[in-house]
Amino acid sequence: MTSAVRLDSSAQQTMSTDLPPSLLDAKSVDLSHGNTMALACVADSVVTLTDEAQLDSFMASYANNPEHQPSLFVLSGGSNVLLPAQLEATVLQPQMRGITMTAQTERYVDIEVMAGENWHDFVVYSVEQGWYGLENLALIPGLTGAAPVQNIGAYGVQLEDCLQYVRAYHLPTQTWHRLSLTDCQFGYRDSVFKRTPNTWLISRVGFRLHTDASKILASYGDVQTVAQRYAEQKNRLQPTPADVMQAIIDIRQQKLPDPKQLPNCGSFFQNPIISQAQFATLQQTYPTIVGYPIPDATVKVAAGWLIEQAGLKGGGIVPIVTHQQQALVLTNHSPYQATQDDVATAQYYIAAHVYEKFAIQLSREPVWINADGSIGYDEHVV
Ligand SMILES: Cc1cc2nc3c(=O)[nH]c(=O)nc-3n(C[C@H](O)[C@H](O)[C@H](O)COP(=O)(O)OP(=O)(O)OC[C@H]3O[C@@H](n4cnc5c(N)ncnc54)[C@H](O)[C@@H]3O)c2cc1C
Repeated sequence: MTSAVRLDSSAQQTMSTDLPPSLLDAKSVDLSHGNTMALACVADSVVTLTDEAQLDSFMASYANNPEHQPSLFVLSGGSNVLLPAQLEATVLQPQMRGITMTAQTERYVDIEVMAGENWHDFVVYSVEQGWYGLENLALIPGLTGAAPVQNIGAYGVQLEDCLQYVRAYHLPTQTWHRLSLTDCQFGYRDSVFKRTPNTWLISRVGFRLHTDASKILASYGDVQTVAQRYAEQKNRLQPTPADVMQAIIDIRQQKLPDPKQLPNCGSFFQNPIISQAQFATLQQTYPTIVGYPIPDATVKVAAGWLIEQAGLKGGGIVPIVTHQQQALVLTNHSPYQATQDDVATAQYYIAAHVYEKFAIQLSREPVWINADGSIGYDEHVV
């Protein structure tokens, strides 16, 4: 069965190949409003893709013009990137829209979502339809096409738990592929897309969502308590997936600053993994150190705790400072003017203090984009 559930007019798959020049090549585009950290950024050019045929068309003209082949960079909601002041690349922005049901049984539905759909809106929509499994991933910013890149995760659920396949364009060979769950090589905040940046452009994501409202995962942190409160308010014994989603929305809104009010890109540092021996030594000096043992005999340490104990809650180098309530989040107090260099200065300062106190190295979570659109690795983090 294939039924269009909600399809925007922009998602109609026209086969148009004659694109207006304005669509193919918008020059010197200000992207400072296109990244949630609100860093100043001007890109050489931007190509907005509202259907897959436009990508075929753009890449055909790109391949036929070997004299002028700027580097390509894929950008969606800009909530997990640190953009350079001058981005000397052609930015491809996947904005294809549409949500389609491709199969339905008593137990599950198969749903295909186009890359340009807002992730949170899709999660809310799916719960409203009675399709469950994604409720714990509510309120994660960004678009659906970017979600597989770092296998987004929160409150005990990762994208891979419900994902079936990804349809993506392989830029080097200009071919379309359907990648299975195995092909995506998912790991913790990781995937083949993340490991080979600017190689794939994801255009559709296929999910299998279940229809059993009694299956919920609410054991994580405060979620159980808040979801149960919602259930009781509605005279229900057990929380529903909608209760869990609402609990997670509430908790996230309390914990994390809204990028629209205070620009940020979520958790800035990854929780570092250290040996059990180092953790035991640290525990002697810092009995309250927060760590989670991992089966491979290492310990994941809460980076937010380390930053706070280094005296840097609310600290950093102005205008980039850690959030007053959540030290793991770096915020930009000079929106649209602060640059990637300001972020580098602040992150180096914070990481150096943490290293000096605990001898633990911090690594960055958001993706550092070089001026040519390539990915920069941890060169600025101690
Ligand atoms: C307040 C806040 C809270 C957050 N909470 C979480 C959380 O709980 N869990 C979590 O996992 N993440 C979290 N994030 C990080 C971020 O929201 C996710 O990584 C999200 O999936 C990024 O989506 P985006 O559309 O903004 O991607 P972008 O930032 O635009 O891109 C991210 C990367 O993906 C690539 N990319 C983007 N779109 C495509 C595509 N269609 N095809 C191929 N490559 C693509 C880009 O080149 C870039 O390398 C949070 C961020 C913020 C600001």
